[in-house]
Amino acid sequence: MRERAGLRAGALESLRSLLERAPTGAGGGTGAAVEIASEAGACPSCGGRGWVVKRGDGVGSARRCDCTVRDMLPRLLAEAGIPARYQECRLENFRTTGRQSHLLLNARESTARWVEEFLASGRPTDSGLLFIGPPGVGKTHLAAAALSELIRRYRVRGRFVDFTSLLYQIQSTFDAGSAETKASVLDPVLSAEVLVIDELGAQKPTPWVSEVLYLILNGRYTRRLTTLFTTNYFLEPERQASASVTLDRGADAVAPTSDLLASRIPAMLVSRLWEMAKPIVIASPDYRKEIKSQRHRFERE
Ligand SMILES: [Zn+2]
Repeated sequence: MRERAGLRAGALESLRSLLERAPTGAGGGTGAAVEIASEAGACPSCGGRGWVVKRGDGVGSARRCDCTVRDMLPRLLAEAGIPARYQECRLENFRTTGRQSHLLLNARESTARWVEEFLASGRPTDSGLLFIGPPGVGKTHLAAAALSELIRRYRVRGRFVDFTSLLYQIQSTFDAGSAETKASVLDPVLSAEVLVIDELGAQKPTPWVSEVLYLILNGRYTRRLTTLFTTNYFLEPERQASASVTLDRGADAVAPTSDLLASRIPAMLVSRLWEMAKPIVIASPDYRKEIKSQRHRFERE
């Protein structure tokens, strides 16, 4: 309510300033009238100009209107390409119930802390996050929530890509007659201030897949841009031991070798990954069994 009253007062003020300026304006009196009519619904503070002029003694000063920052948001959110399914994901609506709730809680807290650090540092950090856990624990939820938070609060130019879809998109640029080029697909991914790569390691590690991943990781690393990753694949035991972020007894379970990230990504890229992102283990490998049995139970009921 208070906001509405404020808007109305602002609208009156801008009308008044328009009228005041009308005689000296380029279009004269009638021009101003047309302008007022065409700008119904425009920002009440600046009338859609993007600048607020304050008149002092003789000399006026202009400042950028708040609406120019506010209005960027819908565009930034659209450009980020967060899938519809994850658009409402927030840190607050991340579910932390279940047997491994302590790990889920820790993961959410670590993510929230990281977001605050990012905001406090006043510039994009070059150290991202790597969310690790079996399918269904909410890795993508946390990554999307962190990205969304940074776009909403910091107006970063963010981007969300599912790694498999991205590979298909790049592949399709090789088709004759494709409107897109490899560069037009990769450039936004390479230049986004904050990038989420969902489902790292989901693809069979062919040389071509590794090459694309190398291009992205290296490109973003050298530009010191922030990247968030999610993966179903676990850390090698020695890495896991050093990933103290959210680990405790619950995450000690050792994953089979086929479940290790190192089995999906060339060693050189795994090393680069450690330089770019801090691991957050959301749930331990044995949690997968629990989810399966829960699902099974549910189906029988
Ligand atoms: Zn404005």
